[in-house]
Amino acid sequence: MRPSLFHGFAMLLLGSLSLFAAVPQTTPKPSLVLHGTLTYADFHAFKMVPFHVPPGVKRITVDITFTGMKERKAAVFPGIFDPNGFRGYGRTHFTISTVDATPPFLPGAIPAGKWGLLLGVDDIAKGYVSHWTAEIHFMNSVDGVSSPTDALPVLNPKPGWYQGDLHSHTGHSDGVCNSQSGHPVPCPAFKLMEAAAARKLDFLAITDHNTTSTYNDMMEAQPYFDKLLLIDGREMTTFGGHFNVWGTKSFVDFRTGYKGLTVNNFFDEAHAHGGLVSINHNWWPYDERCMGCGWAEKPNTDFRKVDAIEVINGYNQKGSWFKPPPGNGTPMWEEELAKGLRITAVGGSDDHRSGEQLPDDGVGRPTDVVYAPELSERGILDGIKAGHVYIKVFGPDGPDVFLNATTPSGKGQMGDNLSCPSGDTANFTVEVKGGDAGIIHVLDNGKLSSLLASTTVHGDDDSKSFAVHCDGSRHWIRIELYKPASTLVTLTNPIYLNFPESHNSRK
Ligand SMILES: [Zn+2]
Ligand SMILES: [Zn+2]
Repeated sequence: MRPSLFHGFAMLLLGSLSLFAAVPQTTPKPSLVLHGTLTYADFHAFKMVPFHVPPGVKRITVDITFTGMKERKAAVFPGIFDPNGFRGYGRTHFTISTVDATPPFLPGAIPAGKWGLLLGVDDIAKGYVSHWTAEIHFMNSVDGVSSPTDALPVLNPKPGWYQGDLHSHTGHSDGVCNSQSGHPVPCPAFKLMEAAAARKLDFLAITDHNTTSTYNDMMEAQPYFDKLLLIDGREMTTFGGHFNVWGTKSFVDFRTGYKGLTVNNFFDEAHAHGGLVSINHNWWPYDERCMGCGWAEKPNTDFRKVDAIEVINGYNQKGSWFKPPPGNGTPMWEEELAKGLRITAVGGSDDHRSGEQLPDDGVGRPTDVVYAPELSERGILDGIKAGHVYIKVFGPDGPDVFLNATTPSGKGQMGDNLSCPSGDTANFTVEVKGGDAGIIHVLDNGKLSSLLASTTVHGDDDSKSFAVHCDGSRHWIRIELYKPASTLVTLTNPIYLNFPESHNSRK
């Protein structure tokens, strides 16, 4: 029986790395390298190799190699024990952190002190000497990459437009779905991921309220979802409003007022861990209907620290006692653009039912379409940070709208900033792909303009162009596409003219 078990295990060990792309060359050297030899005297022995973990470590990554595996002369199953006990067994490459761990290892506290690397010698041929090496990486953060084993996945290395959802919930907060017997229960994260995959989304940010507990489920599920990038997110839920953080597993505080903390401190904290922040559903009520939902923190907010604002939230749950008012978040967003900030407009489904209530409410409705250098967490977040985003209100099958511009000094797409001194002309093109007939609104500084002579789109693919005769002052020019019955279907981020080159937290 042993050979088949060994074979199965070897396949798993190799398979666990196949998803991950090349790690940047800046991968740090291991903190510790252990090595030794095994002989037939070790056959069926469990060897404990002690090593010391210093204080402050939040992630341990272990990469073990041994000779003789391919030749089937040695089979070693590694495991690990912390000072208090067992933390997992059965992979040669694994990472353990305070929030997640490669299955079958256990996430949790990383106590300083004496740990033990376990080598279970399942097989070794008589007369053979197997040389083993364990590279052990300590990190003081749960974020970052210490070895290929904890590298974040790149599902597609090509630059392009990728579509997904940036706001969703599972049973790790208040996401609910029906149990086998039809009772509403906290919904396993896998259900939401399946719903997103069924809609053919390329990425999904799971943003449970304040918690980091979802990330272990996501680490387990990502190898299965090799076409759906899972982005670590959180909906920071304060008494004064909600904002999303994407791109960090680290704890970010949400206790407004505790020790004098403010939302601006929380934004700084998220950025320090490499995350982005986005204010959610700012136009919702802030009263007994939904206490803490509208953005009551507006007067206290340093908007230079805000990367994105959710202008369309898809929450429309059937049977809910709470119906958010119609409308979207563009007024607050454009107030900040008018001050010279380039904050990205995004949408989010705010799915709480794992897609069970589609098409009226659910994951991918709305869909964010992001131009990213690659389909990876960093790629999508870079695209959002750059403003290379448009929003399809009714989901991934809605019409696409591409806005581009050229001035004598350069070219740009949505989110880009072009210099256009007085007397120069900026030539814009709007391309609409898919969908039926519609009406294009060109908005100049938030107001419907008459820049486009003919605003009707005749279905399928269509393109329009218009010119802006620059006056040297700041403008933001964006597109909204409507169905004939005045229903907004697609909204683009603006192309900016003459805005300050940099602002806020964008790196
Ligand atoms: Zn919320
Ligand atoms: Zn939410």
